[in-house]
Amino acid sequence: MPKAILKIALDVPLDRLFDYLSGGHAVQVGQRVLVPFGRRSQIGIVIALADTSEFAIEKLKPVSRVFADERPLDHEIISLLQFSADYYQYPFGQALLSALPARLRQIAPAVSRKQYAYQLTTLGKNVDIAQIPKRQSLLRRVLEALKTSAQLTEIELDAISSGARKVAKQLVDLSWASSHQVQAAMRTPELQVTPVPNLNVEQALAVDRIVQAPQGFGAWLLHGITGSGKTEVYIRLMQHALQQPDAQVLVLVPEINLTPQLEARFRSRLANYSLVSLHSNLSEGERLHHWQLAQSGAAKIIIGTRLSIFTPLPNLKLIIVDEEHDSSYKQQDSMRYHARDVALVRAKRLNIPVVLGSATPALESWHNATVSTSLPNKYNLLSLNQRAVTAAQLPEITCIDTTKVHLQQGLTPQLIQALRLRLERKEQSLLFINRRGYSPVLLCSACHWIAPCMRCSSKLVVHLGQKKLRCHHCGHEQRIPNQCPSCGNADLHPTGQGTQRLEQTLTQLFPNARIARVDRDSTSRKNALVEILERVHAQEIDILVGTQMLAKGHDFPNLTLVGVIDTDSALHSPDFRASERLFAQLMQVAGRAGRADKAGQVIIQTQFPEHVLFNALRSQDYVAYANAMLQEREQVQFPPYVFTALLRAEANDYALANQFLQHAFSLARNLSQDVLVYDPVRPQMERLKGMERGHMLIQASHRPALQKLLRNLVMQLRGTSIATKVRWSMDVNPLEF
Ligand code: ADP
Ligand code: ZN
Ligand code: ZN
Repeated sequence: MPKAILKIALDVPLDRLFDYLSGGHAVQVGQRVLVPFGRRSQIGIVIALADTSEFAIEKLKPVSRVFADERPLDHEIISLLQFSADYYQYPFGQALLSALPARLRQIAPAVSRKQYAYQLTTLGKNVDIAQIPKRQSLLRRVLEALKTSAQLTEIELDAISSGARKVAKQLVDLSWASSHQVQAAMRTPELQVTPVPNLNVEQALAVDRIVQAPQGFGAWLLHGITGSGKTEVYIRLMQHALQQPDAQVLVLVPEINLTPQLEARFRSRLANYSLVSLHSNLSEGERLHHWQLAQSGAAKIIIGTRLSIFTPLPNLKLIIVDEEHDSSYKQQDSMRYHARDVALVRAKRLNIPVVLGSATPALESWHNATVSTSLPNKYNLLSLNQRAVTAAQLPEITCIDTTKVHLQQGLTPQLIQALRLRLERKEQSLLFINRRGYSPVLLCSACHWIAPCMRCSSKLVVHLGQKKLRCHHCGHEQRIPNQCPSCGNADLHPTGQGTQRLEQTLTQLFPNARIARVDRDSTSRKNALVEILERVHAQEIDILVGTQMLAKGHDFPNLTLVGVIDTDSALHSPDFRASERLFAQLMQVAGRAGRADKAGQVIIQTQFPEHVLFNALRSQDYVAYANAMLQEREQVQFPPYVFTALLRAEANDYALANQFLQHAFSLARNLSQDVLVYDPVRPQMERLKGMERGHMLIQASHRPALQKLLRNLVMQLRGTSIATKVRWSMDVNPLEF
């Protein structure tokens, strides 16, 4: 007689399993099932089979459906998610279900669906967009997008706006467009057949040490300056690991825009192994397909963003975390896990090596590799201090004091001169500015009114191209007013620099230069970024203007100048991690210059050229800067010297959020003597998306004491009535305050 009671995890905010009857179905642990829940049906995962239930058997309902032809989730992934849910204080069922591809959370059977692409008919091509009423702005945008590209898939339409698919269907009804089914696929850049380099001494040493280490768990921090050939080291390690029968390798990358380049490099060098990528730019069908290939063991190399750390991989033998310092590894909602940290846990449990690579390791990682000698998870440090291409030198970095020179539209004469020189020499330049849009604020010259977002404690950004003001926090959009709403003055100025304005200025200064802008606005279409990068490689672009999307991972041999515009606000941020982040970002972006045989130059425009951060940057000495920052953190007892968690709460009315936090405060205070609980306060961004926010910091010098308190606190909070009146979350090891 098979066990008839199933313990099932469901996507509901309760930290428990639910009992159902198998109803005569043969069911395995890890299997996906459909169950009645309240008045609806829910997808669940079978976690255990049992003979008994704490509930009366007559009250239990049978499962309505077992997806018996699908491979069940294996024990390893279920238990990893169980661990993560406990550690990050999140309901297990929700953690488990949200780690699955969306298709597996839906009630319809998980088959890959084809998607549609739309293109204009001759009739549609002849439509004069200017004749369409301005208020039909989405229609205008979709038409414009269809005019500039041969066809748009549903995913690409989604990138324009959530309503764009509907508009495209209306165009078909009007006979302005036609549609056809396409196989959804992410384009990867052309395969460049690169010769296999001989490893240099440092690279060879790094590879040898990892490969010759005793089999089993090992955490390696590969600290290599930009262009030092870390990727080459990864490739050798992957080749080695993949020699084991059926072995699989997982490579985590911070952002989707890095996957195409790495994917192309791995495909050309590891051509014998099937490779899949997992990231949010895939359609649901693709995502499911790739995930299933990974789960079945058919895919040997998996490249993915943070969520892919929870992919079932039956033969995982090596995990690589590229750019391990990158904050996009931290999930900022639902279960707030850090994919790098979960990677360490997973490697440890599987008893396999994990390699963390970065030019600017997170201070936590640097600390683990250099300071803490007693930790069980201590990392082994490997360093690459030379650029791999022998002729390539680190770029020369200079800071220009913007208070001492006359700026032309935000640009110093030195930078303009350097750009001119590159154009003459037919070399490429990159201007880095971390603000998309035209200008960060709209200012009234008479009364100094600045256009605010009504739903957030923030300013609206001017998007001149679209004649819109936009909030980058909540997405709110409005027309640019003709006059100041405060004093009636008509003289409103876009003030400060954004990518669009910089692009415009450059077009005026260098009318013959070929300029491309890379930011979230210009790359929202699916293949837009890949196309721009291809043009850069083909020498069809002279000057690239962009945000941090351009800072990482790209290798442009003919790029010899990097200009940095206006990063000063991060120097004086109240967030104690801001300077660490800025340093990493500037090291990364500086690392784009002079990667081949031509010398690189970096020009940083700042009002504070003598700031310690810039001094460290000029000497490009990560180690000195990291050690100095760690010392500072130790003195003031900040992470990694203490362990923290942040309880966040928000509500329409701050009084409610505060009431909840005060309640949590008194609970937490009584739970432990070893844990410091700070008074609830409001974050710098007090209001976000119309919600009033507050938080409470919890801090301990011992991890177990913190975790114990968090478990008790969260359990008690889940049972209180005030908790149902606010939106709250626990963030263990928060990165942002
Ligand atoms: P990183 O990932 O550390 O920034 P990459 O792996 O991208 O560096 O390497 C930078 C450049 O150096 C690439 O063009 C790569 O092909 C090249 N390269 C890497 N290792 C070697 C080597 N041993 N000899 C010659 N060129 C190399
Ligand atoms: Zn005014
Ligand atoms: Zn807003």
